[in-house]
Amino acid sequence: MRAQLLTAVGQPLAAGDVAAPRPGPGQVLIRVSACAVCRTDLHVVDGELPEPKLPLIPGHEIVGTIVETGAGGFQVGARVGVPWLGWTCGVCEYCRAGNENLCDRARFTGYQIDGGYAELTVADQGFCFAIDPSYGDVEAAPLLCAGLIGYRTLRLAGDGERIGLYGFGAAAHILAQLARYQGRRVFAFTRPGDAKAQDFARGLGALWAGGSDETPPEELDAALIFAPVGALVPAALAAIRKGGTVVCGGIHMSDVPAFPYRLLWEERVIRSVANLTRRDAEEFLALAPKAGIRTTTRTYPLAEANQALSDLRTGALEGAAVLVP
Ligand SMILES: [Zn+2]
Ligand SMILES: [Zn+2]
Repeated sequence: MRAQLLTAVGQPLAAGDVAAPRPGPGQVLIRVSACAVCRTDLHVVDGELPEPKLPLIPGHEIVGTIVETGAGGFQVGARVGVPWLGWTCGVCEYCRAGNENLCDRARFTGYQIDGGYAELTVADQGFCFAIDPSYGDVEAAPLLCAGLIGYRTLRLAGDGERIGLYGFGAAAHILAQLARYQGRRVFAFTRPGDAKAQDFARGLGALWAGGSDETPPEELDAALIFAPVGALVPAALAAIRKGGTVVCGGIHMSDVPAFPYRLLWEERVIRSVANLTRRDAEEFLALAPKAGIRTTTRTYPLAEANQALSDLRTGALEGAAVLVP
């Protein structure tokens, strides 16, 4: 089968013809219809995350059709989505407490397990999810990470009404719609001077859109940071109210610069979000069609995976890049 392979970190992906994977017990073989490109893929390719499987097929926002099953569970022909969380142990203290996103032995798709930048992939069927038929394959793909981990990020931000979104990419463009559905008010922060991204944000319901160096017109109850820029942490702290929360939604970020304690004072909170649980996936995938969430995508043939990664890196994208094998 054709696949895009990472053979060494810091190198472009290489097109390869590799043996088709075989499903083991409890696994399914999936013909990939679409795989969205996540910023985490860039961090893996750039070597910012430790010890990826090598060679590796990246990609963890997979939509495809089951062509072979191990035993039980999904039927052949079912359409499923495969997210970042690929396997958890079920027995460690985190798993037992319902925090499988923090599992000591968790394995992740497109990082420690070959992912969806390929014609076929294998996944543990306990970590595959049905997708609402109202979504096309390409349109559904960004829901699998930008949507799921974005949902967890918004959930951990609390119930506040005024939500700031720093970095208006794939996750924020989904969350702006969800937040509006929940009756919240959205303030979008983009790279300074990026008028096109600010228009895009307003088009998705943001009440205000401006540069990340600007002060929003109102204090925020919470701020969600999706751009991998540590300097946004003190900027966001300065924009939230007393007792407000800043949630860092990415897996990697440049160093957070030193900042005066008064920005954190008055019970402001900074926290991160790590991965997702299957409960997050089930809740969000049920909520997305009810909230009328639509995704904006740009499709690339599988062979152009490097171009998709490059467009994500330079901010040339509106919404999400999606590879189509
Ligand atoms: Zn565990
Ligand atoms: Zn992701």
